Amino acid sequence: MGFFKRLFGGEKQEEYVDKQGVYFYVRCNNCGTIVRLRADKQYDLENTGGGYTWHKTIVDNKCFRQIPAVVSLNSSYEIENADIQGGKFVSQADFERQQKETAVQHELARREAENKEEEGS
Ligand SMILES: [Zn+2]
Repeated sequence: MGFFKRLFGGEKQEEYVDKQGVYFYVRCNNCGTIVRLRADKQYDLENTGGGYTWHKTIVDNKCFRQIPAVVSLNSSYEIENADIQGGKFVSQADFERQQKETAVQHELARREAENKEEEGS
């Protein structure tokens, strides 16, 4: 028993659930970078009665262009309407795909750099 417990990392880990945060994914129209944003339900969202409004100026980490957004959410924190300039709301799957692609590109670039070093010597 002890062996298996160690093998699988001991106690069963509870998955972390962020109950306070709502996540948004925005793609910059200029450079295509997808930014993940967290809005705090208590501090960032404005209660409008039947739903919420979120005001945010998004800045991506590639071209640093500002993307102003005003988002209307329903009482289940789902996007009902988004007024956004210079960007577009995308899904979490889109974000994760881009994260993977970026990681692959970095790895390829690293290998290419290594190969060049070998050729040069
Ligand atoms: Zn950008």
